[in-house]
Amino acid sequence: MNGSKEHDQICDAIVIGAGFAGIYMLYVLRKAGLCATAFETGGDVGGTWYWNRYPGARCDTESLFYSYQFDDALQQDWNWTERYPAQPEILRYAQHVAERFDLKRDISFNTKIIDARWDERAQLWTVATDTGRRNKCRFLISAVGCLSAVNMPDIDGLNEFTGERYQTGLWPHEGVDFRNKTVAIIGTGSSAIQSIPIITEQAQNVTVFQRTPNYVVPAQNRPLDPAEVARIKADYPAFRAKAKATYSGNIFPIGGPSALDVTTEEREREYENRWHTGGLGLMGAFQDLQVNQASNETAAEFVRSKIRKIVKDPEVARKLSPTNTFGCKRLCVATNYYETYNRANISLIDLNDTPIKCITANGVRTTKRDYDVDILILATGFDAMTGALNRINIQGTNGQKLTDAWRNGPVSYLGLGVNGFPNMFTITGPGSPSVLTNMIPTIEQHVNWIGACLVAMSKKNATRIEAIKSAQSEWVAYNAGLADKSLRVTCNSWYLGANVSGKARVFMPFVGGLPMYIEKCEEVVREDYKGFVIT
Ligand code: NAP
Repeated sequence: MNGSKEHDQICDAIVIGAGFAGIYMLYVLRKAGLCATAFETGGDVGGTWYWNRYPGARCDTESLFYSYQFDDALQQDWNWTERYPAQPEILRYAQHVAERFDLKRDISFNTKIIDARWDERAQLWTVATDTGRRNKCRFLISAVGCLSAVNMPDIDGLNEFTGERYQTGLWPHEGVDFRNKTVAIIGTGSSAIQSIPIITEQAQNVTVFQRTPNYVVPAQNRPLDPAEVARIKADYPAFRAKAKATYSGNIFPIGGPSALDVTTEEREREYENRWHTGGLGLMGAFQDLQVNQASNETAAEFVRSKIRKIVKDPEVARKLSPTNTFGCKRLCVATNYYETYNRANISLIDLNDTPIKCITANGVRTTKRDYDVDILILATGFDAMTGALNRINIQGTNGQKLTDAWRNGPVSYLGLGVNGFPNMFTITGPGSPSVLTNMIPTIEQHVNWIGACLVAMSKKNATRIEAIKSAQSEWVAYNAGLADKSLRVTCNSWYLGANVSGKARVFMPFVGGLPMYIEKCEEVVREDYKGFVIT
């Protein structure tokens, strides 16, 4: 690391990232009387919502619940306009929170942390940035986000393309003009599925290159009804508590029976209701959709039947129909996705029939032909859950690198702490429910836990905390055992790291659900931070 000693600054905590996790962490640290500073690669707060500005970017969790609850005045004052918030509105909300609680003064923007090393003798982390700054802190808190390190596909010739090239996760702030342009989109995950209908409305012609079709349910987005907002705001804590008691921290109901224990008519009625209600609720139509393949197939076939009804060309409908387990890859929520394939200016290329050979100066070359385009969009996702941390050179005790500790997949105790990396916390880290849940409440739960832990340590005059190896191994094995019983391990999803070549195949989020996880975190506190060594 560079930098002279006189430039070293010491604070209690350094927070990596100023998305929803980072800014709330700063708030909690400040409230606890600790000195903290955050470093953020972007030019403003917002994290994922700062970077993902592609057309149609929108959250698929309802706005009234995809929001903070730590401050009642904030949740009462802020007025969401739509059932599902669009990216600009979420970004405005993040900015509002940062300004309302005067958090920006402790954030260094346009500054990326590139190196962090634990000094056992000094009991401090030394952190270096790409701007040449060097800071020391007692606690290093990662708020890097689960889906922030973009995944550049391993396709030959990517840099040969001479037209405009964009990645959905790094979208230009000034926007893209698609008028009279021919466009190629590689990928059909959530980002592509939200943007394809809008881009196709604007562009002259769009070609979608699909490797795996996804299940897409309609959002049924709409402006929020003031009466509905008033009803929820009048009883917000009760609604929040109800959401917290569900598997994913969402407000939609989870069905009681097995999909196989009801009649065909009852099952279809339930699926139809949820389809018309919109959003992720279809996942919860029956309680065994994620554990019983035959039950799951009924939901899968329901979506396929919808595709056949909506898409007029049977061959296109066939290509769009997923055959993998419903909900194994992240369910996609969109508006007019399947309908868009009835337009004359869109074509769907199935890469299983004609794989991409390379990118040329003019466009995409498959084994069958060349597709010359003006604009190439990579909607190819993220090196999820571990990518952003692994891209920092983090070294714990005895110079051990986090990338080495995680070589065979991430190991962590509760997704909060890693053995060998004392005084480091990971907000929504691998091994916590994170991406399987409504992220903002889940972030709050982690931040509150970390904040309370630091206060408890300060009361004991303790300065060092580290996850115990055996506790960590037990937690990792417990999650792996639960994941093996779930149908979520049956496909090549980013939950498993399967989308990044060379990445270990391990189910990364905790799959046991939010209530079980929260109870475990609370039990650890009740038992004096069982599984951690505090000295
Ligand atoms: P993604 O779900 O990982 O999708 C990436 C797509 O790119 C997949 O279709 C993948 O195909 C394809 N792909 C990757 N490399 C390829 C290659 N070399 N050749 C051809 N195709 C390739 O990424 P994402 O759409 O950005 O979404 C990631 C996650 O972010 C979502 O699952 C969700 O959790 C979150 N997200 C949420 C929202 C929302 O709230 N509404 C919106 C956007 C994103 P394969 O499937 O075959 O690998």
